[in-house]
Amino acid sequence: MYDVAIVGAGPAGATLARYLSGRCRVLLLHRQRKKCCGGILAPESQKMLAKFDLALPREVLVDPQPFAVAVWDLQSQLVRHYARQYVNIDRNAFDHWLISLIPSDVDIRAGAVYRRSQCSDNNNLEIFFTEKEEIRSERVRFLVGADGSFSTVRREFFAGHPNPKRYIALQEWFELQAVLPENSPKNGIDFRNDYVGIFDSGITDFYAWTVPKNEQIILGGAIPYGGKTRETFERLKTKLKNAGFCFDFPFYREAGFLFRPLNPFSVCLGSDRIFLVGEAAGLISPSSAEGISPALTSAYYLAQTFDSQGFNPAVYRKSLCSLRWQLWLKTIKIPVMFYPWFRKQIMRTGFTALDCLL
Ligand SMILES: Cc1cc2nc3c(=O)[nH]c(=O)nc-3n(C[C@H](O)[C@H](O)[C@H](O)COP(=O)(O)OP(=O)(O)OC[C@H]3O[C@@H](n4cnc5c(N)ncnc54)[C@H](O)[C@@H]3O)c2cc1C
Repeated sequence: MYDVAIVGAGPAGATLARYLSGRCRVLLLHRQRKKCCGGILAPESQKMLAKFDLALPREVLVDPQPFAVAVWDLQSQLVRHYARQYVNIDRNAFDHWLISLIPSDVDIRAGAVYRRSQCSDNNNLEIFFTEKEEIRSERVRFLVGADGSFSTVRREFFAGHPNPKRYIALQEWFELQAVLPENSPKNGIDFRNDYVGIFDSGITDFYAWTVPKNEQIILGGAIPYGGKTRETFERLKTKLKNAGFCFDFPFYREAGFLFRPLNPFSVCLGSDRIFLVGEAAGLISPSSAEGISPALTSAYYLAQTFDSQGFNPAVYRKSLCSLRWQLWLKTIKIPVMFYPWFRKQIMRTGFTALDCLL
């Protein structure tokens, strides 16, 4: 019998497990799968790591370290740089590092995939998961879904709750040399050194991005779910080719779901015996898709509410007020960033406050 079962060992699940360790019996189901991610740590994530007294190890960092974001409006062909101190990371190394910090009293089941739960005796739950191709079960007092944007726990227990808007994010990896044979910026864009946000309402109502990773570069884009994802991504590449950048020969492709909480009511933190943290709860920036800091923050605050009675839903909700408020403020700014006419005017003026919109 466990006190808490956590589904997912991303930033949210790993952080929650670490902070619950030593206080109760924890089972962590860790489906091992490479995460599709840009690997950019925003200042908010850096602040949370500092709050946890953690410094990023060298093997998590990748070059270059962008100190600005280049915003490229494909429709108006305007480019502007806005200062923001990001840290460029290898996302898988980051996740492994967070898992390596979990003390040994947490029972980590590598490769285990959560399936479903049913009520057991004394108001407890019996959870079912697949491990080494066998169906296993355990009894638990509390279940936490830290299983990201396609959360099985959220779909199972909170299907009636409004969902955030859903996107498919595609990413392709390229050798930098193939995309940029010459070692110099073009059209005001320096793909070798810049983290670039690409905006074009003909492609998506969200955005696309490039992130340099050592001698490679990721091209990614978030396309509304239900659209013609691959065709749309190819159209983006054609537009980039017309602008002089050849994203023709990827050596690796990946895709993942992405939540975009445009409505504050789509955040669902759970209640009673079942809780949600991180992106499963719908906690992710609706303007930039930065989700690592809300994952770290929500996991930390949920762990703080744990005592002999278990988790306290009211305290959890209260402690996330400020985070939810910050995310909601970002939705107010969306019209400025994502409507072509407004964006063009703002970019023309060189309005430096644009960095806080991302
Ligand atoms: C393409 C893309 C690029 C992004 N780029 C950035 C970025 O640069 N910076 C940023 O801050 N955010 C970025 N995000 C968002 C960020 O990746 C997520 O918001 C963040 O990882 C959320 O953390 P989490 O721990 O809640 O969930 P996740 O990191 O998604 O972790 C969930 C974990 O649960 C596991 N899991 C899922 N289902 C089960 C199951 N049934 N059983 C067991 N385990 C399960 C998964 O394998 C995974 O390990 C990006 C997202 C996408 C899709």
